[in-house]
Amino acid sequence: MTSKETRNQFLNFFKEKSHKIVPSAPMVIKDDPTLMFTNAGMNQFKEYFLGNTVPKSTRVVDTQKCLRVSGKHNDLEEVGKDTYHHTMFEMLGNWSFGDYFKEEAIAWAWEFLTSVCKVDPNSLYVSVFEGSEDADNLKMDDEAFGLWKAIVPEDRIIMGNKKDNFWEMGDQGPCGPCSEIHVDIRTPEEKAKVSGASLVNKDHPQVVEIWNLVFMQYNRKANGDLEPLPAKHVDTGMGFERLCTVLQGVQSNYDTDVFTPIIREIETIVNGKNRQNETKYGQDPEIDIAIRVIADHIRAVAFSIADGQLPSNTGAGYVIRRILRRAVRYGFTFLNTKEPFMYRLVTVLVNTMGSAYPELKEQRQLIENVVKEEEYSFLNTLDQGLVLLDSIINSTKGKEVDGRKAFELYDTYGFPIDLTALILGEKGYTLDEKGFETAMQAQKNRSKSASAVSKTDWTILSDDVEQEFVGYDMLNANVKLVKYRKVVSKKEGEQYQLVFNMTPFYAEGGGQVGDKGYLEASQGDVVYILDTKKENNETVHFTKNLPKNLNVTFKAVVDKKQRHRTAANHTATHLLHQALREVLGKHVEQKGSAVHSKYLRFDFSHFGKMTPQELREVENFVNARIDGQLALQENRNTTMSEAIEEGAMALFGEKYGDTVRTIRFGQSIELCGGTHVQNTGEIWHFKIRSESAVAAGIRRIEAITSDAVKDFYFENNRMLYEIKDLLNNAQDPVKAVVNLQEENAKLKKEVEQLLKDKAKNLKGELQTELQDINGVKFLAKKLDLDAAGIKDLSFEMGNNRDNLFLLFATEQNGKALLSCYISKELVALKNLNAGTIVRELGKYIQGGGGGQPFFATAGGKNPAGIAEALEKGKNYLSS
Ligand code: ATP
Ligand code: MG
Repeated sequence: MTSKETRNQFLNFFKEKSHKIVPSAPMVIKDDPTLMFTNAGMNQFKEYFLGNTVPKSTRVVDTQKCLRVSGKHNDLEEVGKDTYHHTMFEMLGNWSFGDYFKEEAIAWAWEFLTSVCKVDPNSLYVSVFEGSEDADNLKMDDEAFGLWKAIVPEDRIIMGNKKDNFWEMGDQGPCGPCSEIHVDIRTPEEKAKVSGASLVNKDHPQVVEIWNLVFMQYNRKANGDLEPLPAKHVDTGMGFERLCTVLQGVQSNYDTDVFTPIIREIETIVNGKNRQNETKYGQDPEIDIAIRVIADHIRAVAFSIADGQLPSNTGAGYVIRRILRRAVRYGFTFLNTKEPFMYRLVTVLVNTMGSAYPELKEQRQLIENVVKEEEYSFLNTLDQGLVLLDSIINSTKGKEVDGRKAFELYDTYGFPIDLTALILGEKGYTLDEKGFETAMQAQKNRSKSASAVSKTDWTILSDDVEQEFVGYDMLNANVKLVKYRKVVSKKEGEQYQLVFNMTPFYAEGGGQVGDKGYLEASQGDVVYILDTKKENNETVHFTKNLPKNLNVTFKAVVDKKQRHRTAANHTATHLLHQALREVLGKHVEQKGSAVHSKYLRFDFSHFGKMTPQELREVENFVNARIDGQLALQENRNTTMSEAIEEGAMALFGEKYGDTVRTIRFGQSIELCGGTHVQNTGEIWHFKIRSESAVAAGIRRIEAITSDAVKDFYFENNRMLYEIKDLLNNAQDPVKAVVNLQEENAKLKKEVEQLLKDKAKNLKGELQTELQDINGVKFLAKKLDLDAAGIKDLSFEMGNNRDNLFLLFATEQNGKALLSCYISKELVALKNLNAGTIVRELGKYIQGGGGGQPFFATAGGKNPAGIAEALEKGKNYLSS
């Protein structure tokens, strides 16, 4: 069965059991402070388990793009080394939100595997939670045990501990016991030797977990206590690639049709024109690991970029960058790839997965560009790192290289530590691994304590589940507090988070910042709302203090000015998007946006720098629509297909609900949840401040509107008046500046000539002052010349002489300068060194310096010491 058929079969099986097929949520998560990437199918349904939102369908089935490379689930270091963990993988899942529970979940899982997929029941093992005697004091899951016993022989049921059979999303939140299904795909001979049951959960590559059925029935509170959830849910996750391994009768995920086309392409690229000594997968364990790493990582990177996450230096972008670099480095070290090559795998990936995930197909060009550019820059880093590593080796005494230095190389230049160790080994050195670990740990601790956040449990005042957002229509509302908690972090100190039954405050999202404002109790005490964010689909308001009285009706008031400026920038962002597609072409797609009150930022796909002419056209296009006073046409409740029909564009990597909101101004129409002006006239004016590159094929425009534009023009005007003032109120300041420049150039020339003449005269005078000390012509003197003048003079005097020793000094801007010139012949003959001399004499002027044996200078902060320094100079000859 092909992987494509397997995927469809799963979805259809549950569809027939009244499940609704829903799309995968984006793999890169935006607007969730607790999670960067989707790491399990359940992430997108968190709010249903917590009871924050009522689901529209209580039975759902999907396949979810997951990435396990950070946080609680991090498989990165396993990937490539084993054959069944990936960074990015698909998780097939069926879901019950307060609908069916253990009985159906278990029966259907068994039916799907054994009846539909025809997996031999004798190769399957299942596990059941055995209970725990720790603080949670949980009893064994007899219910699941009883249900399984009716289907499988008891010797195939394995009792599992908390680590394997109690699933928790994170430190807090929904959790519960689970039953895993494991498959033994060993050969009959091997099976005869060792029983499969003894290999379950023992990291055996052919006895692996494929499906986990989680029975959500508890909520883990901040203090560690478990409380029963109001409703019970089913959350299952089956590794799609592992299922394909089983159904295609192969021994590794990398031998399925999900990966083999990619692996063949890697071989082709690596071998190039080489027809002897061909590299092939399956012949050398080290090379195999490298090939698996590359085949796996290109998927993770390509899917992230398609979801709108570009590699970068921070956060999620940095995680992606590290994955890509891991692959490049494996290629570099084991496959000898010294040129970018990963980007050449994008085509096969699109061919194998593009039909299930059209975003790959549509963004192919962009993915290739970005990957290629990243590869170039990392290969460059590797080159530089190799040079630095050489210099570290050269300065190493003994055979062990300082771990702190290796850490520096890793931390500052991104040079991978395993590569360092490898190169050191090749050159007969060892790495002080302890020192490296200590430095690494110290840095981890620093960043951990900087980002540590502690939260109390929510204190619930009422169980109002749906918090209405009324902020599209009004900027204040009478609200009641539903729940609150205290949050302490190093960055923000102590803060409170408040959730109301309804709110006019817009929570950060879709690139737009959260509203600020205040909360007023009837008695007149006021609490400021510093920010508003979404968490698990709830609108959380941040404050420094709690209101005195919690059980009253508050007036919640949004900061009008900030909201207006933000709205103006948001509407302008839409017009800018439209303008770019009009002026540059339809290839322009939004790749990111930030809408603040003071400015807006818009990232978009486009291949080159915009010309000044294009920028002006874009500005004019937007301003024409502002002048045109277009009224807002909002549709809060339409379907995705209707919106697309109307001309709205869906963004990749964005999650859309069943109903969507469209925002139209004239011909600009977008799917958008943000706040906007009622009429484009309110934007007043649009001004681009900069256009720059963010990554290969991605440009960024920063712009301002409304009050910020006024400030911008006021400031420019003020500057112009100041300049005019300085130019004695010139009518035409540009012309006046040009005149000044010309005059300045002329004067500069004259001064240069004068200085030359002066030096010539001086040279003549000084020749007569030379003293003869033991056959050396010597002069020590303070001059009124700058450093360059002194140098020129010294070299001119030294021309055609082989016995000159000059010591000059000067005082410039309160600083002392000392210079020493010695004829090259003297340097050898008398064993003199100008560098040493200025360093020694430098102490009289409280400074230091150096240079070459025949010419050196020293600067110092004590001009009063010049006389003494010159005086001492003679000693070098008389002694
Ligand atoms: P394992 O012990 O093999 O790491 P897990 O206990 O971490 O698995 P779950 O969190 O229960 O796995 O995820 C559900 C299913 O997703 C697993 O049964 C497995 O089939 C699949 N899975 C988990 N992690 C990965 C991964 N890194 N790559 C591919 N599939 C995975
Ligand atoms: Mg795992």
